[in-house]
Amino acid sequence: MSTAISIARLLTEAGFVSPEAQTQARTLMEAHGLTNPRKQQMAPEKMSRVNALFAEYLRLTCGDPDCDGLAKRQWPGKTAVQVSPSACIICAGSSQQRAARLLAAALDKAGLHHLLILGGTPPQHTTLRELLEGTPLSIRAVNGSGRAHSANEAAQQLAWADMMVIWASTPLHHKISVPYTSQAPSAMRVITVPRRGVESLCRGVIEALP
Ligand SMILES: [Zn+2]
Repeated sequence: MSTAISIARLLTEAGFVSPEAQTQARTLMEAHGLTNPRKQQMAPEKMSRVNALFAEYLRLTCGDPDCDGLAKRQWPGKTAVQVSPSACIICAGSSQQRAARLLAAALDKAGLHHLLILGGTPPQHTTLRELLEGTPLSIRAVNGSGRAHSANEAAQQLAWADMMVIWASTPLHHKISVPYTSQAPSAMRVITVPRRGVESLCRGVIEALP
């Protein structure tokens, strides 16, 4: 076992910065026998057990209303604690990640789980996929400056999708979009987001929802 470290410091490093958050964390640790009111120090190895305890009982968010709202909907039974942004369970300190989580939640509420994106670049698509990990939303994306897809390929993608977004303002060649836009089923929701950037795309889709 390595040298014991101040519990206050370990908690600060875990994002429990305010006195309120420290108290909430300590109270929970004490209730589960991981420390007691007299102790100021703890072996750092114990932090994995402490973090597991926090994950079970606490809803850690940065205090942003969107993060609070999403976390509350997902974990209504847990106790809310405001932590530093990097420890936020929704955004981890990234507004881009927050927007992606909001998008997944908004589409889930509308019963939409397969989003087809026309336009953008492969790195942007990878970013969005990573941000959506662990959510019910899957995306398929068509490189806006790649090779044109055949009508057949486009039909297969369209059959998979619940919704299509045309990501204008990114490279999106006409020959790429036409096989999709020309045969999108009339019942499919198709929207255009004329903004750049992954976060703007997410926000744009959310705003276009009824
Ligand atoms: Zn957050």
